[in-house]
Amino acid sequence: MHSKCISVPPYPLCPSASSVVKILIFGSLTVLPLTLHAQTSILGFTPNSAAHESAVEEKLKSIPTPDGERRQHKILTAEPHVAGSTRNNELARYIADQWRNEGLEDVVIRRYDVYGSNPKSTFLEMTAPLHYRALLRELPVPGDSDLKNKSISSAWSGMSASGEVTAPLVYAHSGNPEDYDLLRKQGIVVKGKVVLVRYSNPYSYRGFKALTAQREGAAAILIYSDPAEDGYTKGKVVPNGPWGPEYHIQRGSITYDFMVPGDPLTPGWASVPGAKRIPMEEAVSIPRIMALPLSWHDAKPLLAQMDGPVAPADWQGGLPIKYHLGGNRVRVHVKIEMDNSTQPYYVVEGRIRGAELPDEWVVLGNHRDAWVFGGVDPSSGTASMMELTRALGQLKKDGIRPRRTIVVCSWDGEEMGLTGSTEWGEQFADELRKKAVAYINVDEATSGPNFHGQAVASLAPMLVEASHSLQDPSGKTLYEAWKATAAREKESGSQSGQMNDSGVSDGTLADTRIGSGSDHTVFLNFVGVPVLGLEFDGPYGVYHSAYDDFFWMNHFGDPGYRYHTLMSQLWGVLALRLSNSDILPFDFAAYAQNIRQFVSELERNNKNVWGADKKMWGQPPPAVQSGEARPPLPLDLEPVLTAISDFEASGQRLNASITRVLSSGPIDPKLAGTINHGTMQVERNWLNPEGIPGRPWFKHILYGARFTYAHLELPGLTEAVEKQDWTVAAQQAEILRQALITNTKLLNDLNSTLTGQTAAPAN
Ligand SMILES: [Zn+2]
Repeated sequence: MHSKCISVPPYPLCPSASSVVKILIFGSLTVLPLTLHAQTSILGFTPNSAAHESAVEEKLKSIPTPDGERRQHKILTAEPHVAGSTRNNELARYIADQWRNEGLEDVVIRRYDVYGSNPKSTFLEMTAPLHYRALLRELPVPGDSDLKNKSISSAWSGMSASGEVTAPLVYAHSGNPEDYDLLRKQGIVVKGKVVLVRYSNPYSYRGFKALTAQREGAAAILIYSDPAEDGYTKGKVVPNGPWGPEYHIQRGSITYDFMVPGDPLTPGWASVPGAKRIPMEEAVSIPRIMALPLSWHDAKPLLAQMDGPVAPADWQGGLPIKYHLGGNRVRVHVKIEMDNSTQPYYVVEGRIRGAELPDEWVVLGNHRDAWVFGGVDPSSGTASMMELTRALGQLKKDGIRPRRTIVVCSWDGEEMGLTGSTEWGEQFADELRKKAVAYINVDEATSGPNFHGQAVASLAPMLVEASHSLQDPSGKTLYEAWKATAAREKESGSQSGQMNDSGVSDGTLADTRIGSGSDHTVFLNFVGVPVLGLEFDGPYGVYHSAYDDFFWMNHFGDPGYRYHTLMSQLWGVLALRLSNSDILPFDFAAYAQNIRQFVSELERNNKNVWGADKKMWGQPPPAVQSGEARPPLPLDLEPVLTAISDFEASGQRLNASITRVLSSGPIDPKLAGTINHGTMQVERNWLNPEGIPGRPWFKHILYGARFTYAHLELPGLTEAVEKQDWTVAAQQAEILRQALITNTKLLNDLNSTLTGQTAAPAN
């Protein structure tokens, strides 16, 4: 209840002893028995509303309990519940019933009829030089009776093609394009063969591996978990530690959802029953290659028999064998039969209608479907969501409604291709563009104690600010714990791509590089809704395997469910701040600084692309001798940088005006509405209706994802620069500049409205 007093310039959280107040909530309805050291400064709140808000937050934070989290987690992980399964649909009804009992409103289960992908049978054997039939199953370990469950699936990849082939096997390392280049140099052709690749570190989405193998003409791809990545090389394995044991299989989809997520047959519109569908042949996100995931138990006999050149040192893995490139000696027989009949997926939706602004929505979501039990992914998130909805329901019963509407969703089919959230987002895109303030996603919510917070840059300051008011189980504030984690990771270099060399400051704490791979995608990239993402992580070697279960969570991930509880609290505090603020807590000056950083990184990362003489591009060309022709610049980013500076200046002016207006007390609701509707439009204005080149579904011009799912800033511009397509690059730079100009004008207009209207009564 008492958080430490820490000042975050320019927002002192504990201004004076006089802020110890008794707080009345909602007039005579409810008196909270709270005497607390209230916050009178929260981004977006007047001092009075901040005091009220902090009382509401204290009450919300007091409701989720570790026992409640554990109870929900036990129910959610009791049985395997892949998308489309009976159990997953039962859980949809369970969640809907819980929400109704808790007092959520308008609870509905929405149905989407999507292209299904379920295994009828999978089979793999080595036919030469000796026979080995792959187990394709995960064996139980002592102490974890869930692993004896008969409905645990065998190895399979979502969206695999069906087929059968017997062909030589080639080891292609991580299965990235450069790996095939190396094979080619060694004279090894993979066309018509089966490739064996490993899950890799750094993470590269398996669908990208599949697409790369398909482009290389391989007949099938086998993707295995090498102990060097997530097994015994890392540390103790299940049941003695958190890392993946011998038999663990990382299932997963190989869909090409980096082209278009969701149901492959309804790209850009919702798969409501009866929706129009494109023919399968036209669906760009359906892979044409067979794929199968393997445990290292099943990969080892194959690797051990392979001949050909010895694989390079960095291709060697954690198994006690010499890895060879193969190509002749080992032959394998792969047979996969998939059921692709249309299948219903169910999204559960509930809400607490806003007391004052019901048509402004703060949306919260997490997926429900799991590859097997889904201990971390996604049931840790769903458990936290259920304790949060219980808390929100309790507040409502106590007469405390949020000002804006809080919409909560349990997505389906995330694992297959972000399907449920994508279809829902497509169905309600127009309404969301009018009403959505922000979307807060969790997925693998808790696998350890290390916090990672993600946000579009305009919401990063409010995320950092909120972390001050939460207590980490370590005894520190969440803010301090987060900073310590960030500093540790920076030191170990594990996040080297994410931190700049200026150290861990408040400005760099939140990760503002948002790729794909979870349910925030439709909100950010298709609808233009600002997003936040929350996660506590730790050593986690059982991802997408049967071992990711209740036992794992209770022994390794979060044995006391304290981080689950903190997740409910944090998620709730953020939702309440967004829904109760007087002026939405966007910081567009911070956004501008972030965009400038994206542009400078684009220049830095690509400074060698301008010809062999390695001259910088986007910079004035070097001085030339008289008479020498001045080389043409391939791309001039000065106009973009100027537009960023203008946007930043407007953001700073608006921040200053908002701070001044908020500090002077209650705001005229009509004026607040004008400002809020205006600032909600900023994110929408980053969308290009045409989409990024080659990927029209992805419309955001600041955030995108590579085919590996890795974040990709300024996606259209960056991809054009990397291809050295200077015509497209110039077009993309101009689209960015125009969006900056539009948003600068918007902020200037809002600032005039704010200063004009607030100046008037004073005269
Ligand atoms: Zn997940």
